[in-house]
Amino acid sequence: MNDTSDIELKRRAYALLREALELAPSQREVFVTAHCAGDTRLQAVLQQLLAAESAPHLLDGSAATVAERLAAHTDDELAAGTQIAGWNIQRCIGRGGMGAVFLVERSGDGYVQHGALKWIKRGMDSGEILARFRRERRILAQLQHPLIARLLDGGISESGQPWFVMEYVDGVPLQDWAATSRPTLAQRLDLFRQLAEAVAYAHGQLVVHRDLKPGNVLVDAQGLPHLLDFGVAKVLEEDGTDARTSTGARFLSRAYAAPEQIRGEAIGTAVDVYALGVLLFELLSGARFHDNPAAQSGPVSERLSKAAGTGSAVPPRQLRGDLAVIVARATDAEPARRYPTAQALADDVQRFLRGAPILARRDSGWYRLRRLVTRHKLASAALLFGLAAIIAGSALALWQARRAAHEAELARAAQRFLTGVFDASAPDAASGNRITARELLDQGSARIGEELAGQPALQAEMRQTLGTLYRQLGQFDKAAELLDQARSAFQAENNTSSLVENALQLAQVRREQAQYAQALELLTQTQQQTDDPRQLSALLAERAQIEDRQGKFADGLASIRAATALSDRLGIQGLAEQARDHQLEALLLARLARYDEADAAFRDAIARAETAYGNEHSQLATVHNDYAVMLLDRQSSAAGEREARIGLDMRRKRLGLQHAAVGESLTILGIALRQQGKLEESAAVLGEALAIQRAALGQRHPAVASTLNSLANLAMSQQDFPRMVDLLSESRAIFQENHLGDSPQGRTVDSNLGIGLTRLERLDEAEPLLRAALARNRQAVGDMHPLVMSSLNGLSQWERRRGNGAAAEANATEALAIADKLLAGSRDNAAVRQTLGAAQLINGHAEAARDNFRSCRAVLEKLGAQAEPRYAGAMLGQARAELALGHAAQASELAQALLDNGASYGAGSAAVRAMAWAIMAEAARNLGQPAQALAAQKEAERLLPEWTNPDPENLRQFRAHLGQATR
Ligand code: ADP
Ligand code: MG
Repeated sequence: MNDTSDIELKRRAYALLREALELAPSQREVFVTAHCAGDTRLQAVLQQLLAAESAPHLLDGSAATVAERLAAHTDDELAAGTQIAGWNIQRCIGRGGMGAVFLVERSGDGYVQHGALKWIKRGMDSGEILARFRRERRILAQLQHPLIARLLDGGISESGQPWFVMEYVDGVPLQDWAATSRPTLAQRLDLFRQLAEAVAYAHGQLVVHRDLKPGNVLVDAQGLPHLLDFGVAKVLEEDGTDARTSTGARFLSRAYAAPEQIRGEAIGTAVDVYALGVLLFELLSGARFHDNPAAQSGPVSERLSKAAGTGSAVPPRQLRGDLAVIVARATDAEPARRYPTAQALADDVQRFLRGAPILARRDSGWYRLRRLVTRHKLASAALLFGLAAIIAGSALALWQARRAAHEAELARAAQRFLTGVFDASAPDAASGNRITARELLDQGSARIGEELAGQPALQAEMRQTLGTLYRQLGQFDKAAELLDQARSAFQAENNTSSLVENALQLAQVRREQAQYAQALELLTQTQQQTDDPRQLSALLAERAQIEDRQGKFADGLASIRAATALSDRLGIQGLAEQARDHQLEALLLARLARYDEADAAFRDAIARAETAYGNEHSQLATVHNDYAVMLLDRQSSAAGEREARIGLDMRRKRLGLQHAAVGESLTILGIALRQQGKLEESAAVLGEALAIQRAALGQRHPAVASTLNSLANLAMSQQDFPRMVDLLSESRAIFQENHLGDSPQGRTVDSNLGIGLTRLERLDEAEPLLRAALARNRQAVGDMHPLVMSSLNGLSQWERRRGNGAAAEANATEALAIADKLLAGSRDNAAVRQTLGAAQLINGHAEAARDNFRSCRAVLEKLGAQAEPRYAGAMLGQARAELALGHAAQASELAQALLDNGASYGAGSAAVRAMAWAIMAEAARNLGQPAQALAAQKEAERLLPEWTNPDPENLRQFRAHLGQATR
């Protein structure tokens, strides 16, 4: 067979093979017949290649790889001593996708030059490739960089095979270096940074590598990376023929090729940035990037660590957050969203190494500015003064002088700047700065009216800016006024983009003012005016927050899911939006008591917030806080405490010790402590919370009301019902003043107040509170919800005290069904069992009652809560049930155990001991021991004066037992 025709035949066969391999196996036959057009030799070769493809050892899924392997099957040996254009073959040093590589040397006068000769295994039109090679070599010769192996020579052999000689590098491939010398994270990153800079250098010379992969990076003994094969892919790729059958493409390693490269589109430096990103991913995780779902889906900040798994050389902990974001940025499927240059990638890695904020999260230096402002209090104070100068002084005059066309643009830039500065510094500023900022704003807004009267566009933009700032400072009335004025102006100008931003701000203000209907109306209108996913997702997220406030949790969840669908589409440019939406989704799932889903969603939201904001930020603290609240709602108290403390520490660091948000975190921590029976600690923490919130927000703020409610719950745990009622009365008044009487929180306070009043037997006052809270909770959250459980539990106690045994038992039974489903094993579950036992006792269902008191105790014992008052209460209940069942001995035993172990059962109180003695007295009488009965009765009566604030119901029971003892 003639050489040229053989090569030509193979060339055509491989070209067709690539296409055939992209087809389903069933379609290949037809394809082969159609494309070989009766050429039986071609058809035979192609069929042979296809048959080889189906052999398992050759197959690894990707058409290009298979084609490469098949190509490598042809003979590629060059014996030592063979001469190629003056290069003397020494030995084979490697084999790769392109063919074999040989150590070669060439001697000139008095020197010996070493090189690595690549013997490319393929047939080509030799004249053309040679011409292109000469053209390319002029460019490649310009690449003079210590880390780039230079191309020395190249040509086409007589058999039509291209060859190249490049500088010989004494080193090991990248993946071997990582595996054998086990470099540290810093060493890996530093090596990568040098690599990226070498690529950046080449890009500066207008040369794209196109085939970056571990095999093309050799690390020498000094730990320096050397880049091989620069420009080779390009020389080989340009066939000058139809691009779709380009044989060059088969040299491409799909695993490192950018999507646009695989699609065969025009390529630029962005493909090298992509490949560098993949290299970085693999260098850090030790896992493959290509075809690895863990590497390319899920929360961005988790991808590296998830893919790395536990066996990784770099601890997964170090791979979360910044590094994962850098990789994601470099490997974005969309070239425009990648780092604009390899240098930018190198710089971000360098920033990470220095501990500076990375830029990957934002499109501009904007993010860095914000980090700087929040990091350095001094800088932020200086910026505030700068702001003062701008608003009060010459800058406005300067803007006035500008041409009209530039005004709005300038103002928008100024607005973005100022708003961003405040965003970052307002919550972080000490209270002294807050005053400065407020004065500043008052001055600014006064000037806007007069000085900008002739420039309505700029005037509106500035009002929008100042309205936003007033909102951030909690001055809602003033904010609404300015935003309304700006809105009218935007409407007159038909300025849609400003209208959307305005609506978002105004809706937030309306939400804070509890004007929900107005806020929703505004959002609905505005949604129709934009189809930008970023704006729409923001509008939907705001809607979800309003619906949450209204207690319309299912609606809220639907809204936020719509928002998430949009913000997820923004990819890496929407990290902040995604963090916001996933956090709200978790929150709403928690509100709906869909705890398992909420739990997963919160973990996801935390990862996303870390991705968007780094590992320490007030936004991240808020997610931890919300998560803590959910854990406490489901009575996972220890986990709740942990999350609360993370949120608290972060807020203290970021916002200072006296910030209102720190107060909120303390309240949550106080709840966690109370739930665990640490009542004194809880009292101290809640006291601090209240003091901070009152100082920061004033006496009548909803946050203050919320902490008062927590203090009331603590008073209940301490059995101090008069104090409980006082605290709740004040809390309720504050919620109502703030139009939050019918919010979930407002209803909780009503329900709790009803419970407190019931315990004080102020039954007429309690009834409407309890009934309304139950009805409204059912309406808002459905029947299966802790809020409903809590209302039912309160109502059962009320019915019992009213003597409505049947209603009491029915309510408690329904409450227990909820408690068992949602809160098994919790203190609330124990409480509901106790309520049910008490109801059953008055209905004469003594056996069922005894079982519920018993299981109430068992739940508390599992929680180690024997020292809590409820435990003693359950023991007394059980003893009373035994009496009712005629088991006097068992009743006596339980009462005796309480008296003997008083302190450890939290039963040191006179109330408990008096009741225990009364039960002893009746039991002794029932056992026919009148002397013991009399002695016990005396003990019981002796304790009566010490029994402070007796619960009237308990007192009645006490008297009844003594009456039985002396009958
Ligand atoms: P690939 O890059 O696909 O691994 P190559 O054909 O480029 O395949 O090279 C095969 C192997 O030969 C490389 O992995 C490397 O170990 C070795 N090699 C290639 N070029 C050089 C060189 N310039 N200096 C030293 N070794 C080299
Ligand atoms: Mg190579």
